[in-house]
Amino acid sequence: MSVLTDLIYGGSNAVAGLTEGAVNDAIAKYGADKAIAYPDTAYFLPTIYAATGVKVKTLGDLPACVGVLKSLITNEEDLGAALNAGLATAVGAEILEALKYVDNADPYANESGIGFVPDPIIRSLGVPLVTGDIPGVAVVLGKADNAEDVVKIVRDYQDKGIMTFMVGDVIEQVIGGGVKAGLEFRVIPLGHDVTSVIHVVTVAIRAALIFGAVEPGNLAALLQYTKERVPAFVNTFGAIDNVVVSAGAGAIALGFPVVVDIDLGENQVPGALVSVTDHDETVKTSLELRNIKVKAKAVSLPVSFAAAFEGEIIRKKDTYVEFDSDHNPTCELVSFKSADEVEDHKITIDGPDIPEGAEELVRLPLATTVEVYGAKMQPDFESVIERKIHAWFNYIEGVMHTGQRNLFRIRISKESFAKGLRLKDFGEVLYAMIMDEFGSVVDKCEIRFITDLDKVNDFLDNVAMPRYRARDDRLASLTDESVDTFYTCILCQSFAPAHCCVVTPERLGLCGAVSWLDAKATYELSPTGPSQPIPKEGLIDERLGSYEAVNKMVANATHGAVENVTLYSLIEDPMTSCGCFECICGIMPEVNGVVVVNREYAGMTPTGMTFGELASMTGGGVQTPGFMGHGRHFIASKKFISAEGGIERIVWMPKELKDDIAARLNKTAKEMFGTENFTDMICDETIATDSEGVIAFLTEKGHPALNMDPIM
Ligand code: SF4
Ligand code: ZN
Repeated sequence: MSVLTDLIYGGSNAVAGLTEGAVNDAIAKYGADKAIAYPDTAYFLPTIYAATGVKVKTLGDLPACVGVLKSLITNEEDLGAALNAGLATAVGAEILEALKYVDNADPYANESGIGFVPDPIIRSLGVPLVTGDIPGVAVVLGKADNAEDVVKIVRDYQDKGIMTFMVGDVIEQVIGGGVKAGLEFRVIPLGHDVTSVIHVVTVAIRAALIFGAVEPGNLAALLQYTKERVPAFVNTFGAIDNVVVSAGAGAIALGFPVVVDIDLGENQVPGALVSVTDHDETVKTSLELRNIKVKAKAVSLPVSFAAAFEGEIIRKKDTYVEFDSDHNPTCELVSFKSADEVEDHKITIDGPDIPEGAEELVRLPLATTVEVYGAKMQPDFESVIERKIHAWFNYIEGVMHTGQRNLFRIRISKESFAKGLRLKDFGEVLYAMIMDEFGSVVDKCEIRFITDLDKVNDFLDNVAMPRYRARDDRLASLTDESVDTFYTCILCQSFAPAHCCVVTPERLGLCGAVSWLDAKATYELSPTGPSQPIPKEGLIDERLGSYEAVNKMVANATHGAVENVTLYSLIEDPMTSCGCFECICGIMPEVNGVVVVNREYAGMTPTGMTFGELASMTGGGVQTPGFMGHGRHFIASKKFISAEGGIERIVWMPKELKDDIAARLNKTAKEMFGTENFTDMICDETIATDSEGVIAFLTEKGHPALNMDPIM
C-alpha cells in the first residue's frame, strides 16, 4: 500500500475507533434518548444530514451513523476510496465535536476557539462572498516550526480579505504575533483538537444546503457544490500525523486542495495535495490551486486596508480622535458637479488637521465633501457612492465608521494614528475606491475635509441638508408606479444558482444591500453585469404584482428554474430567496397573520421555529409559498405582501426589529389604513412567544389581522 493511502486509512480507522467508543460511552452515561444538537442551526449534524439525509437528534441516532462511517473506510488501495475514508474522518469529527455539546451549552467557553459556527453567521457571509469582498476561505492548521511563518501568512490572507479559520497551536502563534483575530477580523480560531476543523467544513456544507438548495442525502450534489462554489483550501503547518492526513483527504474529497509545509515527495497529488516548503510561496500557491483572484490594492496606507477590518470596533479608551455628531457638527456628501468645478485628485483639509501629540481624546467637527464629475454620471448615483464611504473607511485598520449623512461617528485608534494614519489618507482612500468602483461613471473626483467649526456648520446648513432633503423627496416619489423599469440582481447566483432578485423602488433586494437606485447604478456601471433592466410591461395581475416581462426575465436569469414570480405576494409565486436575506416572514395561521424575524434574533418565535428554522424552509432559489426572505427596509413598504393585505398582517416581530423600523412602519400604517402607532399592536418576545400569549395580546389590542380573511 502507498504511504499516502496507508496514512489516510490509519487516521480514518483511528478516528472511527475513537468515535465508536465515545458514542458508546455517551449512551452508557446519558441514555439513548438524550438529545444531541449543535447550537443555532436548522441542519442537525450538518455533514451527516447533508451526506445521508439523516436527522440526528438523540444519542440513539448515532450508532447507525458510526456504521455508515465505518462502511466508508474500505481499506482498498485506491486513492478515490481513500478520499472517501477522509469523509469518514469528517463524520467522526462531527460526532466527536457534537458530543462536547451534550449537557454543555458552550463547551468552547474556556477555549481560545469558537467551535461551532451558527447558521446566521453563514447567511451573513453570503453577500461578501458573492461580491468577492471575501475572495476565499483558508483553513490553517497545526503548529508552525517558526511562529513568524504562520503569522506572516495569516496576515497576508487578512490583508487580501481571505477568511481564515485556525485549528491547533497556530491559534496562539498567530494571536501572539499581533494579528487581530475574531469573526469581525476574518481570522477565526476554531479550537485546538484536530476534530474542530469540522466547524469550518460544516460551514461549506451548510452553504450547499442554505444557498445551493442541495437535497440532503445527495452526496454527489453536495461534493459538486463544495468543489465548484466554495473557494476554500487548507494549509497545514509542522509535522502531520495520520489523523491530519485523513482529515486532509476529507478536505480533498470536498474539493479543497491541501498545502503542507513538509516535503511529501512522491506522495503529492497534483492539484490536491501539494508540498510547499518555502513559506514565501504558500499564499501564492494556495490561491492558484483554488484559482482565487485577489484584486490588486487600489491604495497604499501606513496601516492595512482590507475588507477584513470592516467589523473592527474601536473602544473609546483606544481612540485618538473622534468625529462624532453627538459632539460636533458632521456630514458627508457626494455631489455631482460640472467638469470645470472639479479638480481631479485634489485633496484638501479646510481647517485644522488632527493635532499631533494630544494626551486626551481629540474631538473635531468634520464635513467630508466629495465632488465628482462624469459624462455618464447621474444625480441618482450620488447617494449610491456616498453610502459606500461607510464601508471604505471601515476597511482602514484602526478606523471605525458608523452612521451616514449628517449623523455619523468616526474613530481613529491611537495605534493607527501612531503608525502615521492622517486625514489626507482618508482622501486617498476615497479617491482610489471611487475611481476603482465607479470609474465608468466618474471622470474626475475632488475631496475636501472641512474641520473648521463655522465652515462645517455653514456647509451642513446650506449645502448638505438641502441636498439630503431633495434626495429624500426624490426617494419618496419613487414608487413602483412611477418608474417604467425594474431590475434583476443575480449576484447571489454564484452560491444560489437558481436565485434572482427583482428589485423595484419599493422593494429592495432581500440582502438589504441593493436598492433600486443601486441596481440602476450597477447596470449603468456594467451593462452586462448582475443587474439587468426589466421593462415594466405585460401586466398580468396588479394586486399580485405579476408581469409577463418580469416572468420572462426571471425565467431567463434562472435558466428556467423559476417561471413565475410575483412582486407583492407571499402565497402566490413569491419571490425566491437565496439564503442571505436580512429577515424572513412566515405565516402564523391561527391569527391570519405573519411573523417577521431578523437574522440577529436567536430566540423562539410563535411559529414554533427560530429564525434559522424558518430560514431553512426556503432558500437556494426555491419558491416556498408562506415563507419569504426579504430586506429590513421592505417591511415598512406599502408593497410588503400587499397581495395578502399588506403590513396589517404583521402580528409579531422581535423587539429590536420592531423598534428599529417603528417610525417608518407607523407612518406607512397611518397613510394606508389611518392607524396610529400600529407597532403598539404588534407582539414581540418580551410579551409572548407562544401562540396563546400572542392571541391574547392581539385580541386585547384589537389587531386588524384577527378580522381579515384567512391568509391561506
Ligand atoms: Fe443577492 Fe438579491 Fe442582494 Fe442581489 S439583491 S446581492 S441577488 S440578495
Ligand atoms: Zn443572497
